[in-house]
Amino acid sequence: MGIIRVSGPQSLEIARRIFQPAHKNCPWETHRLYHGDIISADGKTIFDEALVSFMKRPHSFTGEDVLEINCHGNPLIMKTILEELVALGCRLARPGEFSQRAFFNNRIDLSQAEALASMIAAKSTKACAIGLAQLKGSLTKEIDNLRTLLIDALAIIEATIDFTDDVPASDIPQSPPQIDLAGARLQSLLATYHSAKIYTEGVSVVITGKPNVGKSSLLNALTGRKKAIVTDIPGTTRDLITDMINIKGVPVNLVDTAGIREPKDAIEKEGIALVWENLALADAVIILLDGSKPITSEDKEIFQKNKNGNILVAINKTDLPQAWEAGAIDGLIPKEVKIIHISAKFGTGLEELKSIIVDSRLNENSIDAGSAMITNMRHKIALEKTLENIEAAKNNIITGMSPEFAAFDLREALDKLDEITGRKINDEILDKIFSSFCIGK
Ligand code: GDP
Repeated sequence: MGIIRVSGPQSLEIARRIFQPAHKNCPWETHRLYHGDIISADGKTIFDEALVSFMKRPHSFTGEDVLEINCHGNPLIMKTILEELVALGCRLARPGEFSQRAFFNNRIDLSQAEALASMIAAKSTKACAIGLAQLKGSLTKEIDNLRTLLIDALAIIEATIDFTDDVPASDIPQSPPQIDLAGARLQSLLATYHSAKIYTEGVSVVITGKPNVGKSSLLNALTGRKKAIVTDIPGTTRDLITDMINIKGVPVNLVDTAGIREPKDAIEKEGIALVWENLALADAVIILLDGSKPITSEDKEIFQKNKNGNILVAINKTDLPQAWEAGAIDGLIPKEVKIIHISAKFGTGLEELKSIIVDSRLNENSIDAGSAMITNMRHKIALEKTLENIEAAKNNIITGMSPEFAAFDLREALDKLDEITGRKINDEILDKIFSSFCIGK
C-alpha cells in the first residue's frame, strides 16, 4: 500500500477533481475514509481504486487542509497519480516540508519535529519509544519548566536593578533559588544524553585476535549471516567488516578486524593501523583466543597494544581439545576482565557473550523512555550553553556584580532554550534541520 499526501488550501478542490467516489455525492466530511477511484482530470482514465480522506485544518498533521490517498503501492501507480496531481497544480514536497509546515503552523515545536525524524531513523524499539515520547512533548514540557524557572529568576533580578543604588551591600539579593533548581534540572537532562545514545546510536564492539582464531566465524555466528569471509589462510580478512545486530533493544555495531600480524606489504600495514585505531575508539573490544592452540606471542601482543579500557576475552574453539588451561593467560589480562568460553562454529556461549556485551552498559545507563531525555546533539549543545549562562548569572550575583550582568546571562540562557523548541531560531538553521529529513515527512 502507498500513501500520497497533499497539503494546502486547495486540497479539497484537488480531491474533488482526482477522486470519483463509489457512492455519489461524497460529503467530504473531515477525517472520514471514502472509497472510490482515482481518475484523470478529464475523467476518462481510472488510475487506481483507493481510499481517500480529507483532514480539515487545523486538525491535520501540517495544520493545513490535507488530502490523503491510500492507493496500491506499485511505484508505477503512485508515479502516475503524482504526475496527475502535479498537472492539477500540486508540487512535490521538499524533504521535511510537511514537518516544517507543522512547525510553522504551531502543530509541533522544533524538538518534536526532530524527534519525528529520529523516530523514523531509529535502529531499535527503545530508540523509537524515546522518539515517540519526545514527539508527544516530553522534552518540550521540560524545556517549558526550565523557561518558567529562568523567567521567575529574571523577574526577581530585574526587580532589584532599579534599586541597587539605594540599598546597602548586605541587602543585595542572594542568587534566586530558581537558578539552582534550573541548574540541577539541566544537569539531569544533560545526563540522559549518554544513556539514550546507547539506544539511538548503539554501541560499537570490535572483535579482534590473531589470524585464524575465528573472528569472521564469530561475526557470522552472531549476525546469523554469511557476510564475513571465512578462510583458513591467515590474514585474508584484510578490511574491516561491520554488521549491526540488536541485543536487548540496543543496536550493536560489530567490527571484525583485519588479521593482526606483522605486515608483509603496504596494504596490510594500512589495514593493521586501522585496527588499532578502531580498537581504541570502540565501546568494547572482544579479544578472541584459540583454545585449541597454544598461546603465542601474537596473542600477547594484542593485549599489550590494546588501549581500550573495556575488554572482554572469549576463548574460541572449545569444541576441540583444549591446548592450555585458562590460568595460562592470568598474567596477561586485568583481573576484572570477563573470560568466556565459546565455539563460534557450534554457537555455544554466544548468548552469554551477547549479554555481557550490553548488560554492563545497560546497568550503568538505565533509562525510562517516557521521561524527558535528549538524543540530539543540537539540543545537547544548546543545553550546555544554557547551563553555562546560568552558572555565569549565579557567579555574577554572588560576586556582587551589578544585577544587569546576571539579567543578561539569564536572557542568553532563555534564548538558548528557545533555540531547542524553535521559538527563536534563525531561518538558515531551520532550513538546515528540515532539509536533513526524509522526503514526505
Ligand atoms: P579469523 O581469521 O580469525 O577471521 O578466523 P576464521 O573465522 O576465518 O576461522 C579460521 C578457521 O577456524 C576456519 O576454518 C573456521 O572454520 C575455524 N573455526 C572458527 N571457529 C571455530 C570453532 O569454534 N570451532 C572450530 N572447530 N573451528 C572454528
